Amino acid sequence: MTPAGQHTLKVGDITITALSDGVQPCDQRLLFPQTPPSLWDQYRPRFPECFTDLEVKGENQTWFNTNIGVFAFHSRGKTVIADTGNGPGILMFGFPVKEELLGDMAAKGVDPAHVDTVFLTHLHGDHVGWNLQKDGGRVRPTFPKAKYSFGKADWEHFNKPDILAGRAGETMHRSVLPLSGFGVLDLIDGERELAPGITAIPSPGHTPGHMSLLISSGNERALLLGDLIGSPMQVTETDQFYNPDTDGPMGRASRKRMLDIAERDGMYVMASHLPKPGWGKLVRFQGRRYWQAL
Ligand SMILES: [Zn+2]
Repeated sequence: MTPAGQHTLKVGDITITALSDGVQPCDQRLLFPQTPPSLWDQYRPRFPECFTDLEVKGENQTWFNTNIGVFAFHSRGKTVIADTGNGPGILMFGFPVKEELLGDMAAKGVDPAHVDTVFLTHLHGDHVGWNLQKDGGRVRPTFPKAKYSFGKADWEHFNKPDILAGRAGETMHRSVLPLSGFGVLDLIDGERELAPGITAIPSPGHTPGHMSLLISSGNERALLLGDLIGSPMQVTETDQFYNPDTDGPMGRASRKRMLDIAERDGMYVMASHLPKPGWGKLVRFQGRRYWQAL
């Protein structure tokens, strides 16, 4: 694997383009309520770009700088994008979203009209926001020829009446449910090859239908972990509880399993909220595993 440019990576014959819907301030204490400050002290010097000091309601707090990462994969004439960011016009942790994805795609030569598959790691609001767009008051898919592929278990979970009635329901009504009327829904049960060498694999826990993406070409591999990790800290501390996980123990098990596979097979590791461009490798230092940006 040779980096062909800051935002492009080659995995065998597959080209990956790193995209972003912006970098958002996110509340560290809400995301990791059980992680003691002393543990963060070890990781801030390793990943300074992930942290920011903010004054919130008159109090100085450490928050995250969270990249809302999106990836485009080009394989043998097919284009798959993984996730669609926050989308427009909403707040995240009280801050307006940056709405950068479509501009970033234009700047990096990824045309929404040429996307064959929109793969969603899961159905949280920061991963589905640009699925649809308003065009003259009418809603239409942002990626006109694409099918939208994601885990069947997420479709079933987020369609439960109590979920639809809550905050996740707003996301479903705005960005997911209308897809069904356009006939572009593609629900995945088990593993599925989406394009040559690009395979969705179940990694439940963060959400019931959360899926990762294995990129495989020649002798090179990469693994997109989606939200299995909410911070590079969790590459080392896989047991740390991540509050957005629907099922904490299952999330922890998937995180550990996938990272162990990636390390064993020498894969590059990508995740939705790692700092831009969002990919790196796993290194060992004094017996502990760390994520190292490329
Ligand atoms: Zn997320």
